[in-house]
Amino acid sequence: MIRLGAMDRRSFLGSAAATLTLPGCVTTSGRTAVRNICLPPVHVAADRVIRTVAGLRPYRAAGFVVRAEALGGKRLVHNYGHGGAGITLSWGTSKLAAMLGLPGHRGPVAVIGAGVMGLTTARLVQEAGFPVTIYARALTPDTTSNIAGGQWSPFGHYRDDLVTPEWRAQFAAALDYSWRRFQIMVGDDYGIRWLPTYTETGGGPPAPAPLDAYHPGLRRLAPDEHPFPIEQVTRFDTMYVETGRFLRQLTRDVQLAGGMIRVRDFSAPAELAALPERLIFNCTGLGSRALFGDTGLEPVRGQLAILLPQPEVRYAFTGQAGYMFPRADGIVLGGTFERGVWEMTPEPDAIAGIIASHRRLFGGFRCTA
Ligand SMILES: Cc1cc2nc3c(=O)[nH]c(=O)nc-3n(C[C@H](O)[C@H](O)[C@H](O)COP(=O)(O)OP(=O)(O)OC[C@H]3O[C@@H](n4cnc5c(N)ncnc54)[C@H](O)[C@@H]3O)c2cc1C
Repeated sequence: MIRLGAMDRRSFLGSAAATLTLPGCVTTSGRTAVRNICLPPVHVAADRVIRTVAGLRPYRAAGFVVRAEALGGKRLVHNYGHGGAGITLSWGTSKLAAMLGLPGHRGPVAVIGAGVMGLTTARLVQEAGFPVTIYARALTPDTTSNIAGGQWSPFGHYRDDLVTPEWRAQFAAALDYSWRRFQIMVGDDYGIRWLPTYTETGGGPPAPAPLDAYHPGLRRLAPDEHPFPIEQVTRFDTMYVETGRFLRQLTRDVQLAGGMIRVRDFSAPAELAALPERLIFNCTGLGSRALFGDTGLEPVRGQLAILLPQPEVRYAFTGQAGYMFPRADGIVLGGTFERGVWEMTPEPDAIAGIIASHRRLFGGFRCTA
């Protein structure tokens, strides 16, 4: 199994926490410190696993693609390649794509793909006043987007030495819009909520991008401020998306606003050129590799084990043990980062490893609520 190293959620968050500004923190006697925080542990056991899944992150070392080009007499706007951060970046890069495609356009619009990129792009096109049809091989719940754990965190989607200054500017703009857009959607209807996140702080490489603003409340905890059997723990707040509910609601929103959804598989750009719409957004995720010959796009497989829901667990964790995101539809335990692996069946050994590491973590709690 090949791990992404600098690109994985654990090392990224560990390094981000290590290098970000830590407002009023680091000392064990900080003004805002709350002592003896006991948390309800996650009950980790093989017989509490309700499902296992494996999904393929559409990873592109040179970064996501948001770009317009001509396709015959049509305008084609790409919006794909978001790796392990597609939920996080969705509203943001879809906004950039819409801003590239819509100015000067009249008439209906086609969106190819019904994952998080296709659905958010379609909504933004509708909000701008254009009729839209989504064409996709697979619909929710059968997309990669439905598998995502749903942490709002811009990790694991590019290699720092391969991106351009122009791309960094797109990334920063996308983050800014996504951050604000998700916040105004917090609530049960879209399945989005804020949670405190406890992160094992490691060494790791420096964090990419200016991310301070996206980790509110970030501070290092003293040993008596958390129950984890871990030496260095950092806490911050971020949003968590129950992806199934979110995507279902977005699909409804598209349809309520008059959008059409058609199941269709495209095997060549010429088939897109034959569509009636003159503006087309390509939101096919990993599918862009075959459809547009982008060999820079590769899968990074992630395997997850989902446990029975525990509504009392209202915090998340990332660290050496893996990650734990509590959702109404189950406790998500992750996960693997396997580069270049296309197989979508979860492997019992990998799942057993995920269960074992989390069992040790929560079994070692020093204090339980
Ligand atoms: C295990 C795991 C955990 C993750 N956790 C997180 C997380 O916590 N936070 C986060 O931000 N991100 C996370 N991600 C990443 C996120 O899931 C992806 O970046 C995101 O889902 C990509 O969305 P997409 O719409 O581009 O692709 P997809 O969801 O794959 O959608 C692509 C759409 O295009 C269609 N399509 C493809 N090819 C064709 C074709 N030729 N013709 C017609 N239709 C086509 C598909 O059928 C589908 O409808 C995770 C991913 C995995 C696998």
